Amino acid sequence: MPDASTIEKFRESLTGGLILPGDADYDEARRVWNGMIDRRPAMIARCADAADVATAVDFARDHDLTVSIRCGGHGVAGKAVCDDGLMIDLSQMDAVSVDVDARTARIEGGARLGNLDAATQPHGLATTAGMVSETGVGGLTLGGGFGYLGRRFGLTIDNLLAAEVVTAAGRQIRANATENPDLFWALRGGGGNFGIVTAFEFQLHAVGPDVLVGQSFFPISEAGDVLRFYRELMGDAPDELAASAFAVTIPPAEAFPEEYRGEPGIAILACYSGDLEEGNAVLAPLGSFGSPILGFVQPMPYVELQSSFDQGVPDGQRYYWKSQFQRELSDEAIDTFVAHVTTLPGPFSLVGFEPLGGAINRVDADATAFPHRDAQFALGIWSGWGDPADDDAGIAWTRQLHAAMAPFASGGVYSNYQDQDDDGRTSDAFACNLERLKEVKAKYDPENFFRINQNIPPAVSE
Ligand SMILES: Cc1cc2nc3c(=O)[nH]c(=O)nc-3n(C[C@H](O)[C@H](O)[C@H](O)COP(=O)(O)OP(=O)(O)OC[C@H]3O[C@@H](n4cnc5c(N)ncnc54)[C@H](O)[C@@H]3O)c2cc1C
Repeated sequence: MPDASTIEKFRESLTGGLILPGDADYDEARRVWNGMIDRRPAMIARCADAADVATAVDFARDHDLTVSIRCGGHGVAGKAVCDDGLMIDLSQMDAVSVDVDARTARIEGGARLGNLDAATQPHGLATTAGMVSETGVGGLTLGGGFGYLGRRFGLTIDNLLAAEVVTAAGRQIRANATENPDLFWALRGGGGNFGIVTAFEFQLHAVGPDVLVGQSFFPISEAGDVLRFYRELMGDAPDELAASAFAVTIPPAEAFPEEYRGEPGIAILACYSGDLEEGNAVLAPLGSFGSPILGFVQPMPYVELQSSFDQGVPDGQRYYWKSQFQRELSDEAIDTFVAHVTTLPGPFSLVGFEPLGGAINRVDADATAFPHRDAQFALGIWSGWGDPADDDAGIAWTRQLHAAMAPFASGGVYSNYQDQDDDGRTSDAFACNLERLKEVKAKYDPENFFRINQNIPPAVSE
């Protein structure tokens, strides 16, 4: 560990600032979304710009410090924060600039999805981004990026035009289709393995300001029929439609009849991002299906939809996730799922199916580092509760459902949904692209300096 005067010089060399154990803001700065994570870095570099990031990388390398990278702090495995080492915190780097004519956005590497939508939607523009506005653009993009617009415009990475990167050697370089194209390929799905992205440049598309939203909540006893209907709805869905089906705890909100509040339910959550009239026809079957305890199909500002689930997964609760991909939803898979979700492990649990397909699956499995281009659904078992005393039961419940659904899964896993005990699933996460990713890692980070992540080891030369 460097001595006090060396640390002081490091502090002075950073524009953004350095936080040490004992500082008033230390505990807040090391906190991440998942309240299960309680790690204590030796230092937290609050970077203000790419120069700060390069300074922090050089300092860590010169003093042999373990490094973790924090953007939105929403990685469930908590890899944004390390014990004893240097946490490189990008969260102050959240500026966005939009080129309306070119329909592109440049966004700094520590921004959150809410920053992106807030800057692009006033121009009627958007790109694919996840369902909770507090999630970091950095982690979400580097793993792939699912969202309501994915079936129409592809994953977030399919809309990535360029990235500005600080490498393990502290060099600031650019990656795009022509500059460092091997790195550009690896960044699109390979996670935080290859360097620190200080800015992303995205292709935008005309979206909103209103999209058509359909949401229907049913008692959990109807889950089997609801999921069969969901399968049909998505079976011949146009690319503009993205619908998920989740077992949830019915919120304690007045809109829901009292007898259902706090009970498990099953919900279909749909967004049609194209022409609203056409959307009304596409979502009509959802509007007329069954007798929901709450249901509507109505226009909603896209930017409002993008933050509408923020409250359901609050910061600091205890989360444990498992996930897998499905190429189809068989009757047997539905029945197995239904048998398990009669109870949920806590009020912050979202357990169910997100749609892939459409433009996501029209990209070749090896065109980017994200290989899962033949899956139709991602099963997310996102369990969440508040009391540490519920940890064992919640984790066991999650593992049981994951194991029960395994016979129906493709064998892959989305790296962005890997939890702390999923480190052994590297082959599942990167599949056919793993060997090539190792080669790129060996070129840009041969010492595995960036290793607190869903780690891809560097290829070993013969
Ligand atoms: C509530 C919630 C909702 C979610 N919804 C979605 C969704 O709709 N779609 C979806 O695809 N995913 C979703 N996710 C998963 C999400 O994509 C991952 O958790 C992602 O890692 C979060 O990114 P972050 O920047 O917030 O996380 P962090 O914890 O800050 O970072 C996670 C890791 O990403 C890497 N990283 C982050 N930023 C950079 C950077 N600038 N340069 C280099 N490496 C970096 C680091 O290795 C870091 O350890 C959701 C997660 C949560 C908790």
